[in-house]
Amino acid sequence: MQAYWSIEIRRLIGGVVLALMLGFITGYWLISLLATALGYIAWFLYKLRQLQLWLVHDFKPDELPDSDGAWEQIVTLINRSRQKSIKRKQKQEELLQRLNNIISALPDAVILFDDQHIIQWTNNMAFELMGINDQTDVGQRIDNLLRAPEIAKALNTMDTEDAIQFISPRNAQATLQARILPVERGLWLLNVRDISQRIQLQHTRKAFIANASHELRTPLTVVSGYLELMQEDPEVPQHLAMAIQQSREQTLRMQQIISDMLTLSKLETMERTHIPLREVNVPDILKNTSQALTDTLAAQSHTLETYIEPNLTIMGVESELTSAITNLMDNAIKHTPAGTHIVVRWERLNKDYAALTVTDNGPGIPEEHIAHLTERFYRVDTGRSRERGGTGLGLSIVKHVIQNHQGYLTIKSRVGETIFQASFPARHAPIVSENQS
Ligand code: ADP
Repeated sequence: MQAYWSIEIRRLIGGVVLALMLGFITGYWLISLLATALGYIAWFLYKLRQLQLWLVHDFKPDELPDSDGAWEQIVTLINRSRQKSIKRKQKQEELLQRLNNIISALPDAVILFDDQHIIQWTNNMAFELMGINDQTDVGQRIDNLLRAPEIAKALNTMDTEDAIQFISPRNAQATLQARILPVERGLWLLNVRDISQRIQLQHTRKAFIANASHELRTPLTVVSGYLELMQEDPEVPQHLAMAIQQSREQTLRMQQIISDMLTLSKLETMERTHIPLREVNVPDILKNTSQALTDTLAAQSHTLETYIEPNLTIMGVESELTSAITNLMDNAIKHTPAGTHIVVRWERLNKDYAALTVTDNGPGIPEEHIAHLTERFYRVDTGRSRERGGTGLGLSIVKHVIQNHQGYLTIKSRVGETIFQASFPARHAPIVSENQS
């Protein structure tokens, strides 16, 4: 730095000496000094102009203006910082290109859009899956191109929690699953994948279970019928009686499992929109179920108390609701010891929900099992459940019925109190006026 300035100072001293010599020769001291100073300024301006031209004409590093002194340093520093920023820009461009390639190669479609739902960027898969073109469709509203009502609903609420399932606008056979993800302020990402294969697999699995159950039902009915006949036949040797009785019990159990599997597969596969919803009189179902369970209650010396809000009906499928209610009440008897007290309530929970609550004062269910109770064939104590005629499918059926009615199930349990509560949306539950109840 000092070297650059010493050149500059020497240049200045040279100028002053030149002015003095000119003054000495011509005798015009002031004019000589002024002429030298003007010459220096002119040279300075010329250098500045050179620098400006070099900057304006796109920074060619090999055409650096020829200079020395302070100018040399300024030019060198500008050049260095210019080279650095070119390299940085190149790196950023490379990185961006690489990211672009990675996102484009993803098997998922990616659409970036803003708060106004205007598409900012898409990858190749967006075209493959939905026909959204990264050349022509950028700048368009996403909901003008994807017209599925599920997408419109999700964009309205900007729901980032739930996955959206919809049919591809390009291929009616393809089922797509999308999720909205926040990227940064004002920027969102729609991530879409093809789940057709998964859906197909699920259908195949469900169809197989339904068909297998159906096929097993007929031979089992025949076997069970013959076993019943043999049981009643006095000519059957005594030593076979026990074996026949046990076989009959097991056949009945298998029939129950098959019946539950068929119920479950119907609940899963039925196209919900095709099932007509009717007003279901839940108080009536509860009365009938309590009546039907009287014998079991008496046999187990259980007591049952009911609080039923009269006329509180919901829109739904009666057979499904009956099955769920029976399962919950039956469980409270089946999985608790003799003498247990059961309370069943059917009431408006709040302005949004009506709820069925089955409470028993049995031994309770350990915490770690609660989250798994609605899984198929899950039992807390397998041996005990089988002994009591359980299939392990009851609560799966309950969960599906409640889900199909847009409700939710809560299970709470501790020693001395187990509560199963099924809540149904109140939009299905007409408000009953005072004089009706
Ligand atoms: P299961 O056919 O065995 O009744 P469910 O799916 O209906 O099958 O219930 C799953 C398990 O949950 C049962 O095996 C039982 O261990 C437990 N369970 C359900 N209800 C109760 C209850 N009221 N009290 C204690 N345990 C219960």
